[in-house]
Amino acid sequence: MISRAAREALEEALGDRVRFDHPLSRCTSLRVGGPADAFATPATRDEVARTLAICAAHQIPHCVIGAGFNTLALDDRLEGVAIQLGKLRGLEERPDGCLRVEAGVSHSQLTNFCIGRGLAGLEFGCGIPGTIGGWLAMNAGIPGREIQEVVQEIEVISPTGREVRHLPRAALRFAYRALRGLAPGSVILSALLRVRLSTTVAVRAEVDRLLASRQAAQPLDVPSCGSVFVNPPGDFAGRLIEAAGLKGHRLGGAEISSVHANFIANRGGATAAEILALIQEAQTAVWRTAGVRLVPEVRIIGGKP
Ligand SMILES: Cc1cc2nc3c(=O)[nH]c(=O)nc-3n(C[C@H](O)[C@H](O)[C@H](O)COP(=O)(O)OP(=O)(O)OC[C@H]3O[C@@H](n4cnc5c(N)ncnc54)[C@H](O)[C@@H]3O)c2cc1C
Repeated sequence: MISRAAREALEEALGDRVRFDHPLSRCTSLRVGGPADAFATPATRDEVARTLAICAAHQIPHCVIGAGFNTLALDDRLEGVAIQLGKLRGLEERPDGCLRVEAGVSHSQLTNFCIGRGLAGLEFGCGIPGTIGGWLAMNAGIPGREIQEVVQEIEVISPTGREVRHLPRAALRFAYRALRGLAPGSVILSALLRVRLSTTVAVRAEVDRLLASRQAAQPLDVPSCGSVFVNPPGDFAGRLIEAAGLKGHRLGGAEISSVHANFIANRGGATAAEILALIQEAQTAVWRTAGVRLVPEVRIIGGKP
């Protein structure tokens, strides 16, 4: 639990933008998770900095959440402060062919902005739910395309909230579904993303095409976190899980999707423990049947740091 002094400092800095004992099940797409000691939703960069500074001064751990579409929150209480960036939603077109996009801008806000102005290059993200901060931290993408291809620069604030840096593309180490090299606890504030001039009609047509192909292949009507595992080199996690006989396998309210075996769906009332157990079952079964170690893509938060 966080101290009374820390609680007061957070309340003074954030007003009603901090809540205590806030259930993380409300902030993650899997709809599971216990409470966070504190849940902060800073509305400005200054509030982000102040939140981080308070955490550092009171030695409280913090973690960052975008829109929670790739996050599994454990059933145990999250000890510390969960900082959600969804209120930083600035989005501006610059004369140099780039967009300045704040971390809390959502995939749909960005897609609609690009459709409206006829800007191409980011259509591939239209069906990747989340915020730009989450996209960057995960190097989100679809087969053949990743966000890293359009990143010119990222603006990051240090874990103590003291220093803001603008990191050019060359200083960033993107990997498959990861951005490496940032100090743990750093927070991405914004990014410069490159776009090119097209037309509203052309951008909308590409968005519609991508969304339609996704509808057919993924279970989009039930809570999930998208792909649970990264694809191993040269293969697909979903294919391996299906071949191991686990497609449709259920544990309590959690199910290895019968539509796409690399998705775990919350069919109603699932717990994080059930989802974790299915993750482990899939790893064990694929190791036994194919000799492949599946690595989770989903990020786990909660419990003791
Ligand atoms: C139905 C469905 C389909 C999906 N399809 C795809 C797909 O095709 N391709 C794909 O790549 N992903 C896919 N995903 C996963 C998810 O959409 C992406 O990982 C997305 O980038 C998550 O964004 P988020 O804001 O929700 O991140 P969160 O889940 O909130 O966070 C993910 C990670 O990013 C970190 N993070 C978030 N914001 C910041 C920030 N500002 N600063 C520092 N770190 C931050 C968090 O700490 C965490 O480690 C899918 C998910 C669902 C539910």
